[in-house]
Amino acid sequence: MAEKRDYYEVLGIQKGASEEEIKKAYRQMAKKYHPDLHPDDPDAAEKFKEVNEANDVLSDPQKRQRYDQFGHAGVDPSYGAGGAGGGFGGFGGFGGFSSGDGIDLGDIFDSFFGGGMGSRTSANPNAPRRGSDISTSYTISFMEACKGVSITIDVNRSETCDTCNGNGAKPGTTPKTCPDCNGTGKIRFNQRTVFGNMQSTRTCGKCGGKGKTIDTPCQTCRGTGRVQKKQSITVNIPAGIDDGQILRVAGQGNMGQNGGQRGDLNVKIFVKKDPLFERNGFDVWTEIPITYSQAVLGDEITVPTIDGNVTYTVPAGTQPDTVFRLRGKGIQKLQREGRGDQLVKVTLEVPKNLNKKQKDALIAFSEQLTEKNYEKQTGFMNRLKKFTDDLKKGFGM
Ligand SMILES: [Zn+2]
Ligand SMILES: [Zn+2]
Repeated sequence: MAEKRDYYEVLGIQKGASEEEIKKAYRQMAKKYHPDLHPDDPDAAEKFKEVNEANDVLSDPQKRQRYDQFGHAGVDPSYGAGGAGGGFGGFGGFGGFSSGDGIDLGDIFDSFFGGGMGSRTSANPNAPRRGSDISTSYTISFMEACKGVSITIDVNRSETCDTCNGNGAKPGTTPKTCPDCNGTGKIRFNQRTVFGNMQSTRTCGKCGGKGKTIDTPCQTCRGTGRVQKKQSITVNIPAGIDDGQILRVAGQGNMGQNGGQRGDLNVKIFVKKDPLFERNGFDVWTEIPITYSQAVLGDEITVPTIDGNVTYTVPAGTQPDTVFRLRGKGIQKLQREGRGDQLVKVTLEVPKNLNKKQKDALIAFSEQLTEKNYEKQTGFMNRLKKFTDDLKKGFGM
């Protein structure tokens, strides 16, 4: 068995690290080695697995305590116990625990850990095992994200082989009880250890621990009992979902083994950019260009919202880049009550390419304007005049 790395070392933390530190380190490392970022890199995949395993143990206070006390053997019964000798020396700390022949190592683990070792079952090839998750992605429009949408996704996932009904044997034949282990899936053997001679068990090599052997494997699934099948799965995307969020569809992943439940289907949702709307949290932003005279005189303008068009009255004297808020016209809060707002920013479009007649009209208009029409500019001009006068007096120079 390959030497396992220390879990604290895997996550790059100290042995006394707090729960928060473990969580943080796990997030960082999982991100670093995530398979999405390193497709086809077996080394990163292995690291990712290692990081998850370390987190699985260190984030569970009971498992962590056992690990701190007994090392890998404390959390993984197959470690050290199954392989002849390897790693078992770590148990030297038991000191007074001397024994005669014939003690089943499984019993030692059971008595030490109260028999409640959840991970023990993972060493049993016949225990129910949950199927793996499937990850995929799907792109929807901005409006679909606002309103929610039902989509159909085709996924390739493992299913029971119909030809052999999942038992792996060619139709007309049946799996037989394994002659080597008499159907137990385990082989007992004697092992010399620091405690003396002990009887131990290992997984039966002939049947792989299943207790049954197949003479003529099913040709459809080559004896595995499972096949890959394309399935169309309907997924209801809730209103309010945002770009990059992952939707977990429970129980729609790969089938489990030995009656274990299915894995999940994880759908990463991408939302297309919209030419009119931009999202910020649950608020919707729109930018609407208005003309000079609309800003000066005020006007009713048409504002697109995700519920359809509404009329909005821009007041006389509206300044460029003013933002109006339409309450409750934003996006449905994801799995919560209420909606965000819509924010409408009015920008001012300065007319270009004026002809002579238009220019003359504008000049005639400008000549009619007084300081009263321009508060900001009048204020600025007064400040500028004072600054210029000060310069003339040599102030500060
Ligand atoms: Zn089959
Ligand atoms: Zn066997």
